[in-house]
Amino acid sequence: MLVNTDYLVVGAGASGLAFTDALVAEEDVEVTVIERRGALGGHWLNVYGFVRLHTPSAYYGVNSLALGDDRIDEVGENAGFYERATGEEVCEHFAQAAERLTQTGRVRVLTGHEHVGHGADGELVRNLETGELHEIAVRRKVVDARYLEASVPATHAPSFEVSADARLLPINDLPAAVRSASSFTVLGSGKTAVDACTWLVDNDVEPDRIRWIRPRDAWFHHRSAFQPLEQVGSIMTGISLDAEAGAQATDIDDLCERLEASGRLLRIDPSWPATMYRGTMLSDHELRAVRQIEHVVRLGRVRRIEADRIVLEQGQIETGSDVVHVDCTALGLRDAPPVPIFQPDRIVLQQVRLNSPCFNAALMGYLEACRDDDADKNRLCPPNPYARSMDDWPRMVRRTWTAEQRWLREPDLSGWIAASRLNLLRALPDHVAEPSVRTAVERFVTHVGPATKRLREIDGTGGSRAVEAG
Ligand SMILES: Cc1cc2nc3c(=O)[nH]c(=O)nc-3n(C[C@H](O)[C@H](O)[C@H](O)COP(=O)(O)OP(=O)(O)OC[C@H]3O[C@@H](n4cnc5c(N)ncnc54)[C@H](O)[C@@H]3O)c2cc1C
Repeated sequence: MLVNTDYLVVGAGASGLAFTDALVAEEDVEVTVIERRGALGGHWLNVYGFVRLHTPSAYYGVNSLALGDDRIDEVGENAGFYERATGEEVCEHFAQAAERLTQTGRVRVLTGHEHVGHGADGELVRNLETGELHEIAVRRKVVDARYLEASVPATHAPSFEVSADARLLPINDLPAAVRSASSFTVLGSGKTAVDACTWLVDNDVEPDRIRWIRPRDAWFHHRSAFQPLEQVGSIMTGISLDAEAGAQATDIDDLCERLEASGRLLRIDPSWPATMYRGTMLSDHELRAVRQIEHVVRLGRVRRIEADRIVLEQGQIETGSDVVHVDCTALGLRDAPPVPIFQPDRIVLQQVRLNSPCFNAALMGYLEACRDDDADKNRLCPPNPYARSMDDWPRMVRRTWTAEQRWLREPDLSGWIAASRLNLLRALPDHVAEPSVRTAVERFVTHVGPATKRLREIDGTGGSRAVEAG
């Protein structure tokens, strides 16, 4: 089979679908989306049963289709905040989005198909059911929507050895195992480990039966700072605190202190230095739950789990056959090196605005449809990799502001952004007269220039090298 198409999108996760949705909304083009999994939604197909988005549904998914009802939860741990979809709801959203795209007659979605490279007459795609190879002739561009493919516990291979008589489970299997273990050892420093610990405490496992191997401590945001629409002032306040701290910081350590003092960042154990930053957030409920776990092991990463001991980078601890070890060590967000997003025959979807994967992919779809010059598109989309630690924070924040300022100078683009449901600030104009929002906007405007300059100076100092204040 030789199929012709304008664009071949490789990967039908959030990025590939958000890109396609925005592209075909603006331009009459033919798009073929291929996905090697049997369904749509990318890593969300393999998440644990109790996962939810950590950001509100209001600004997640594809641009043309709402996810949820923009409801504020009244009960539960998310009470007072905008609803957050479950993994299943996220996958339903993407399936529905793909169905609507297919109905345009311009988009073809092939699941169970893997991109394997270039052939003589086009892109080589393998049907994973039959093993057959097909060539797809691409008139315009191949869109790499798997460059930042997520790594999740259910599908990753642990980077350490596990002996046959030790019990290691991905977090997905925790509910089934909870009654059959005397104690639990949770492995990992990030949000998945927080989810595992919170789930255990919420399910009546006494905190003294939980041990947490935390190679690094992490910085988190508070969930209250990422609430859109009626609560959009929370987001503006957070951004303005970033700018204020950025303008005044003398080095990375000082930056962290300022961000923590303002409430912009928090850590589970304020007495212990934190370095990791992945842009994730916690609620008061989660914080209360995980702070009950006192047995925290800080001996570096796990190297080997044996029947009766765990060997770590900096020591070893006892374990046993009745201990369930919960693997939360998958990388999650991939930190591939930045490359130009718009290339002559390829588009490599990456991050631009911080912590906004769906918005970024849709923005690139819009620009591909509405701009001719790749250099211009790349000027508007400087790649901005996900942060792994606070050392990456100055670069990530500074590049976000730089890109946003460029967007503001383009009337059509800023109009698209203002109307996009994926833009977490879209309700800002409706609330700018509120005193707290006005204060935040003024604080941001005052500090963003000096902060951009200062963050450039301290970028890479890693806390060890102070720059002159002033
Ligand atoms: C646990 C978790 C929770 C998250 N929560 C949030 C959140 O609340 N809010 C938020 O904004 N972000 C969140 N993120 C960030 C997340 O990375 C994005 O939300 C998004 O789902 C990533 O989508 P993606 O399409 O880039 O990657 P993926 O979901 O990994 O999709 C890539 C797809 O490409 C396919 N593929 C790879 N190679 C090929 C090939 N050769 N041929 C065909 N197909 C191929 C893969 O099968 C996969 O389906 C979360 C991430 C994780 C890991």
